[in-house]
Amino acid sequence: MRISIKLKTSAFLAALLLLTVVVLSLLVLQGIQKNQRVQVEQYLAQQAATANTYLYQSLTAEPNKVPETFFASKGAEFGKQLEWISGQTVELYDADGKAIYKNKSGAVSEGIGQTLTYALQQKTAYLVEGDSLYYLSPLNVGNEQVGVVQFYYDLAANDVFYHQIRQLFVYIGAGTFLLSFILAYFYFNALSGSIIKLNQAVNRIREGSYETAGLARKDELGELGEGIRMMSERIRRTIRDKDEEQEKLKLAVDKLSKLDQQQKQFIGNVTHEFKTPLTSIKAYLDLMDMYPDDEELLQTAKTNIAGDTQRLYEMVEKVLQLSALEKYDFEFSKEKVDVRQTIESVLGSLQGKMDKFGLRLETNLAEASADADGDSLTIVLMNLLDNAIKYNKTKGSIRVSCAERGGQVVIEIADTGIGIPQAVVHKIFEPFYTVDKNRSRENGGAGLGLALAKKYAEMQGGSIVLLRSDAEGTTFSVAYPAWGSRESA
Ligand code: ADP
Repeated sequence: MRISIKLKTSAFLAALLLLTVVVLSLLVLQGIQKNQRVQVEQYLAQQAATANTYLYQSLTAEPNKVPETFFASKGAEFGKQLEWISGQTVELYDADGKAIYKNKSGAVSEGIGQTLTYALQQKTAYLVEGDSLYYLSPLNVGNEQVGVVQFYYDLAANDVFYHQIRQLFVYIGAGTFLLSFILAYFYFNALSGSIIKLNQAVNRIREGSYETAGLARKDELGELGEGIRMMSERIRRTIRDKDEEQEKLKLAVDKLSKLDQQQKQFIGNVTHEFKTPLTSIKAYLDLMDMYPDDEELLQTAKTNIAGDTQRLYEMVEKVLQLSALEKYDFEFSKEKVDVRQTIESVLGSLQGKMDKFGLRLETNLAEASADADGDSLTIVLMNLLDNAIKYNKTKGSIRVSCAERGGQVVIEIADTGIGIPQAVVHKIFEPFYTVDKNRSRENGGAGLGLALAKKYAEMQGGSIVLLRSDAEGTTFSVAYPAWGSRESA
């Protein structure tokens, strides 16, 4: 059976107090008894002295002054006088122990004989029987014992008083036990409440919940509660830090494996893309070896080899740029770039290509200065505008606008081309990704332009987003920090 601490401690405390009361009451009762005896003895000794004095006076008044004669003739009267003076029941004995006077209504003791024998030997003696005390003291004349006087003392009143006090102590003991038990129970209830709370807090910590509040106490239990609270807070922080570290580590591992994956794919793509023009060049060289006199073949081979070489050259250039951008932190020389002028210059260099496809150009170029590296902005625009030409429809159009908005220079390039399928729009910035391999190849592209442009823009605090792409065409938006804006600072 499980007995709670508060019950055990309360009972122990109450028992301790009861024991204290019992010990104290025993001492007090013993004191009372002793005091009562001393008082009775003193009182009766006083009475005996008075009896002796009175006997002496009475004998002196007698003509023959012989005690035996006096007792024989006036013993009974003397006894009565003595009773009257002392207020006690008196008995008188002569020197031989013969009764001289006996109160008829006085109590009689069977065992008084032995006590009387003592008293006849010049000794004071008494006998207690129930509530009766028989006090016997020698009667002397000079140094000679002439008899014995016996006083009867009723102890009933003393006993009543003693028992009343004892009863009182019993009540006090019971009251103390009950009261102290109740008070202790309430006190230990509060105390054990705190212990239960601590126990619950520890259980919660064990189950992995570290939300604990301290105890509103200013004692050792309060300190223990605060200690547990701080400990659980510390465990919580340590676990959180560990989780965060683990999360970071996981992210790093994921990133590394993704990078590794990307790198493998990149190398695979590079190999593949490089192989195609090289295979074509090799094939034409073989054909030229086989038919050295075929003039037409020679002409076609020259054109194709020149095209493939150009494509290879551009690809090498882009791959090198891209891997350099991935690997190293470039310090771009940021300067005030006149965006309108840069756009116009790029458009100028692409004019021939646009004319070739019969494309119409619309521009809406506001004055705007960007905080950027002029050369890299040119590369970005070149790639986007090149795509707008390459993937346009014949006799289509290209619309280019630029304006300064909210601390940024925003350039929008819209074409009326073939558009990009919604399902792959999230892939177009990946290196070597092309929607249609053949079409890209025909146009000399290998899926590196957008990846390179995005990298260049982002490295200078800029961005490229695909605004819209559907059957009507595609719109890209390029944003750079405006010169003197907060972003540029
Ligand atoms: P590429 O050198 O092949 O043009 P890019 O990285 O520039 O490579 O573009 C990736 C792919 O995104 C292209 O192969 C093409 O399918 C698609 N794309 C890019 N720009 C446009 C555009 N303006 N209109 C339609 N498709 C586009």
